[in-house]
Amino acid sequence: MMSPLNLYELFESRFSQSLDQPFIKTVSGTSHSYRALADASARLANRLTDLGASPGDRVMVQVEKSPWAVFLYLACMRAGFVFLPLNTGYRADELSYFMQDAEPGVVVASPGSSLADMAGTAPHCAMLTLDADGAGTLTDGISAVETNHTIVATHADDLAAILYTSGTTGRPKGAMLTHGNLASNAIALHQLWGFRPDDVLLHALPIFHTHGLFVAINCTLLNASPMIFLPTFDAGEVIGQMPDATVMMGVPTFYTRLLAHDGFTEALCRDMRLFISGSAPLTAEVHDAFRQRTGHAILERYGMTETNMITSNPLSGERLAGTVGMPLPDVDIRICDDQGDAVEVGDIGNIEVMGPNVFKGYWRNPEKTAEEFCDDGFFKTGDKGRIEEHGYLQIVGRSKDLIISGGFNVYPKEVEVVIDELDGVSESAVIGAPHPDYGEGVIAVVICAPGQTVDENSVIAHAKSHLASYKAPKGVIVLDEIPRNAMGKVEKNKLRQRFEGYFTEAVQ
Ligand code: AMP
Repeated sequence: MMSPLNLYELFESRFSQSLDQPFIKTVSGTSHSYRALADASARLANRLTDLGASPGDRVMVQVEKSPWAVFLYLACMRAGFVFLPLNTGYRADELSYFMQDAEPGVVVASPGSSLADMAGTAPHCAMLTLDADGAGTLTDGISAVETNHTIVATHADDLAAILYTSGTTGRPKGAMLTHGNLASNAIALHQLWGFRPDDVLLHALPIFHTHGLFVAINCTLLNASPMIFLPTFDAGEVIGQMPDATVMMGVPTFYTRLLAHDGFTEALCRDMRLFISGSAPLTAEVHDAFRQRTGHAILERYGMTETNMITSNPLSGERLAGTVGMPLPDVDIRICDDQGDAVEVGDIGNIEVMGPNVFKGYWRNPEKTAEEFCDDGFFKTGDKGRIEEHGYLQIVGRSKDLIISGGFNVYPKEVEVVIDELDGVSESAVIGAPHPDYGEGVIAVVICAPGQTVDENSVIAHAKSHLASYKAPKGVIVLDEIPRNAMGKVEKNKLRQRFEGYFTEAVQ
């Protein structure tokens, strides 16, 4: 039997002495205290229970970022419902798949959205709306609802949330996260990143993803401190709020956009103590440029939806650019070859992880779950990396991004780092495409620095002078922009699709 644990109860044990403290401050100047959070989450829990929701029921939510969306998350935790947030970008076809797969007991959607229109398709599902200002059928008359609510006695192993993650192939899979997974990770990060009572978190991430939802919000709740809540990332807005903040969590694109803004200065960061980056690789160049501009070394960490956070650079101690640091306390990682044997120190292999942070499996998909776990319980992250003597993990890319050209393995990251050093290049994305001779050929997609051009041959020549020639691109494509998803991850599958015929069609 797993030990009793309710994530909301854990948070409450930390903030119950600070009920008058602000929890969320919005840019429009509204402030919601910890007492407001406690009352609103209790009322929402009571309302959903009255509508027939029971512990274990999925509450599917596709709404704009707002304080009420956070209260809804916490209502689900305290009532034992399974919170299921969806990316606001999902369209009707995807949504109808989620409806069938998750069988939610409650759906909360933006008014007038495709999801709200699906009301009639699910007879046993309560359909409610919530807009960015907190208005909708979810909150209509909510102040009349009782604030007494008894937190449901859940266990560490009970589901707290399902987050759908999309692989490159097949339908998105629902990652089942337990109260124990989320609690253990939040406690570890809160401690590791040295949260202080006077911290103020600058929150500009989306809240349908593990980063903005669990990493950022759960650390804040454990710390009983405020966060400044921005609807989206806007460099000017972030700059405007930064003097009131002490910690920021972001994806690498946040940091490149801040650096591109003239108003982003060292003086602005005077009260900031920590900048954290994750969800996609932060290049060493951006890390260095940020340190030069602000005096701050960005702390990079690594995680994924299924595992929460896995590794982090240290708070005190060296933050090594281009690495994601060391495993969190209680988390084990290992680097293995395709046969499952540990590789030599410093060699590249598959990153596998085990610990209280690792999810329970994919929702209604035991086959996929079995495939992704090793017999001894380690989870296969699908990322490739290496651990050097100093113990820091370096990620070289997703396994599926690995290019095999003429029988040799080419890790895109290694080639991208070299190409990015070439004058005139702003950034690059290296992919493989079917090649009649080599199986796969290396293609470099290159973005020029503002006002500059790059000669394709010079990219190839530069790569050849720094790398074994099989790693050098056989094709160079200059684009205006690299496709990225909401978390700033380069969408290599889109590039691969687009340039699939690059070598095969060229020889015809
Ligand atoms: P998601 O499930 O959307 O959070 O995506 C997880 C994936 O993002 C990981 O498996 C990695 O491929 C990538 N990722 C997360 N953090 C980092 C990081 N700091 N550096 C490089 N890749 C990262």
